[in-house]
Amino acid sequence: MKETFVDLHCHSTASDGTLAPARVVRLAVERGLSALALTDHDTVAGTGEAESEARKAGIDFISGIEISAEYPHPGTMHLLGYGVDPERPALRDLTRTLLEGRDNRNPKIIAKLRELGVDISMEEVVAEAGGKVIGRPHIAAILHRKGYVSSIKQAFDKYLAPGGLAYFDKERLTPKNAVGMILESGGIPVLAHPIQLRYQNDAQLERTVKDLIDLGLRGIEVLHSDHDAAMVEKYSALAQRYGLLKTGGSDFHGTNKAAIDLGNANGRKIPREFFDALVQAKKAAAIKTGAVANAK
Ligand code: AMP
Ligand code: MN
Ligand code: MN
Ligand code: MN
Repeated sequence: MKETFVDLHCHSTASDGTLAPARVVRLAVERGLSALALTDHDTVAGTGEAESEARKAGIDFISGIEISAEYPHPGTMHLLGYGVDPERPALRDLTRTLLEGRDNRNPKIIAKLRELGVDISMEEVVAEAGGKVIGRPHIAAILHRKGYVSSIKQAFDKYLAPGGLAYFDKERLTPKNAVGMILESGGIPVLAHPIQLRYQNDAQLERTVKDLIDLGLRGIEVLHSDHDAAMVEKYSALAQRYGLLKTGGSDFHGTNKAAIDLGNANGRKIPREFFDALVQAKKAAAIKTGAVANAK
């Protein structure tokens, strides 16, 4: 059979991407991909639309979510949950908790910006986001449009990133809770873009991965737009050593991260076998827990 490629990490308007879920799927088709996972931050609201578009377009689809976990600054730990089941109460609890964290943080950012003389309101930000997941990229887009900054990146550098004038952190789950809730939601937990942990050395990275495996981690994102050849090799070796699934994706966000294209992880394509292995793992996990009816 002809070799095909996939993308297992991307965002839609359901979180901080700029294309609607169905449009992300159609772009995947344009790029010749044979399967897609939508991994919006803190929500699966785009799953239904993406899944039905994928069915119409004849490509394969698996649900996904990306969540942040507590991790010492300046690193960030993001976990992907593949095959989470939108019907499970655990997933609803998880997304509710994550959205509350945003609802507590966002007004602080807006108040600070107003104090700094920026003309911006919460209503504008809600309108910009269009969905339920309201994030800093939506605020950045308004700052850019109104001419306070010359790019989204500058909005982060000056105002929204750690050290910026209007930076506030949101509450995060512990890694234990994040992995645990992905599992309870019927998902396969995967460590996203390990480079963003900003580990000091390989031993520290390996310890973090081992700790996560003890909590139930099943995979590691090997291919990503932030990963160079040496990193791809390092993370593949870790996957091999610990029997982890390898995943990969572009982290496409539409024009919010204009340099990133769907299906392209820093010049590399993501092999179909990554998707097939995830689907197998999801099926096996569902059989083990007796939740066969939910297996997709
Ligand atoms: P939030 O989830 O609201 O805390 O916003 C985080 C999101 O902002 C990330 O998922 C990225 O999409 C985006 N982001 C974070 N840092 C930057 C940056 N320096 N430049 C552009 N986008 C960023
Ligand atoms: Mn994002
Ligand atoms: Mn991420
Ligand atoms: Mn992402």
